[in-house]
Amino acid sequence: MKEYDVVVIGAGPGGYVAAIRCAQLGLKTACVDQWLGPDGKPSLGGTCLNVGCIPSKALLDSSHHYHNLQHLFPAHGIEVKSASIDVAKMQQRKDKVVQTLTRGVAGLLKKNKIDAFQGHGRLLEGRRVEVSPHGSGDKETLKAKNIIIATGSAPVQIPVAKIDGDRVVDNEGALAFSEVPKRLGVIGAGVIGLELGSVWNRLGSEVVILEALKDFLATADRDIAKEAQRTFKKQKLDIRLGAKVIAAKAGKTGVKVSFEDKGGEQSIDVDKLVVAVGRRAFTDELDPEAAGVKVDNQGRIEVDGQCRTAAEGIWAIGDVVRGPMLAHKASEEGIAVAELVAGQSAHIDHQLVPWVIYTHPEVAWVGKTEVELSDEGVEFRKGSFPYRAIGRAQGAGETDGLVKILADKKSDQILGVHIFGAQASELIAEAVTAMAFHASSEDLARTIHAHPTLSEAIHEAALAVDGRTIHL
Ligand code: FAD
Ligand code: AMP
Repeated sequence: MKEYDVVVIGAGPGGYVAAIRCAQLGLKTACVDQWLGPDGKPSLGGTCLNVGCIPSKALLDSSHHYHNLQHLFPAHGIEVKSASIDVAKMQQRKDKVVQTLTRGVAGLLKKNKIDAFQGHGRLLEGRRVEVSPHGSGDKETLKAKNIIIATGSAPVQIPVAKIDGDRVVDNEGALAFSEVPKRLGVIGAGVIGLELGSVWNRLGSEVVILEALKDFLATADRDIAKEAQRTFKKQKLDIRLGAKVIAAKAGKTGVKVSFEDKGGEQSIDVDKLVVAVGRRAFTDELDPEAAGVKVDNQGRIEVDGQCRTAAEGIWAIGDVVRGPMLAHKASEEGIAVAELVAGQSAHIDHQLVPWVIYTHPEVAWVGKTEVELSDEGVEFRKGSFPYRAIGRAQGAGETDGLVKILADKKSDQILGVHIFGAQASELIAEAVTAMAFHASSEDLARTIHAHPTLSEAIHEAALAVDGRTIHL
């Protein structure tokens, strides 16, 4: 039986990052992963690299270029006689990006002398992991001083709209369409539904997004959600709130999607339907209980603030545990656990996980919303600033959006930063850094921001907290 200091199960952004950090710290490490790419070969990187963050952003970039060609370039005096989209080529490019990065992960594991096992990992008692390789290979048992469970998540399936992989698809199917559907239905206006809906909308699909909740982007700041909803409407994304899907019937020519909203029962006909109603922790055939690991009532592995499970020496990180299902959260937990295993101290600040929705413009935030602060009885001051008053935004033709900063009324410490606007995913990093250093809004207001840049919207919003914006 092979013996390790650490066996990691799962090679997504949680697992592979944890394994690399363990190896850096001198721990003898193995990583077990079962993912197979479309060619049937091992493909490391988990959901994020194979069917999540990376391919979705590759298609969002392609579709954004196509959209700009038609809708932004003419204002710059750039005329193109007829724009066309070669979906096969766009998909090939996306596949290449995925392949480069998944192979890159394999290379990183090798370089760090991590033993990579391909196949399904199952927990056995006594801190052992049974690996069942795909195909005909023999099962192998690994013994570990520590085990890190990083098995990630899988799409939630709903009985009213069963995935058939053709007409009714999940994120994986929606990232692989070989042509632009004329009419596309999406169930769920969460992050994934909005991003995938945006891709195909920009390429010419008539997209209808059906969302059961009455509030748009219920977890985002209300001002940001309102502005985003208004802008997406201009983009002809047809988002129907308070619309609960009750049936989807796929036929030869399309899918009839029935839903209930305030007008009663209704239906729409679409060519393809994307089910994006959330994700669930993935522990299928992992047997956590066999190793004394507890699972909560939502199927997630129970952990404490430092990712320890109920079983000594067994840790769990990423989508399979509580907290936001985001790649960078998984990776940071992976690094922290590796350092704890190596006897170092490590701290994960779950309050400072940035959220991003890669629509255009993007939505990004960190920290608390106004509603959360009010619910907690925290007194705060706020400042916001619109993109349209920023010179660089005017120059770029990116005038939709705003930055909003919330700061503690007495101490002025920044409690939340909310952005809707171009490059929000990049701009939010400044806010995360500021908050990590417990900065006040005055600190940001007195920080020199380059001109002309979009980051000036953050500077001006910080000035606005104290009622002293310059350009409005
Ligand atoms: P995963 O990435 O799910 O990796 C788990 C791995 O473990 C997989 O390879 C799986 O096959 C393997 N595994 C599971 N069980 C076993 C077992 N028993 N034995 C062996 N191997 C096993 N997040 C962001 O932060 N930014 C984004 O832009 C973003 N975009 C997304 C877009 C889409 C369409 C989707 C679906 C998700 C997106 N996410 C994004 C979420 C992100 O993908 C996840 O938060 C992230 O992948 C979680 O990492 P993880 O390591 O916990 O799990
Ligand atoms: P998220 O969890 O952010 O990925 O978003 C998934 C969204 O899907 C949530 O906002 C849910 O309200 C929504 N949803 C779940 N089931 C249905 C349904 N049957 N009809 C419409 N929307 C749904």
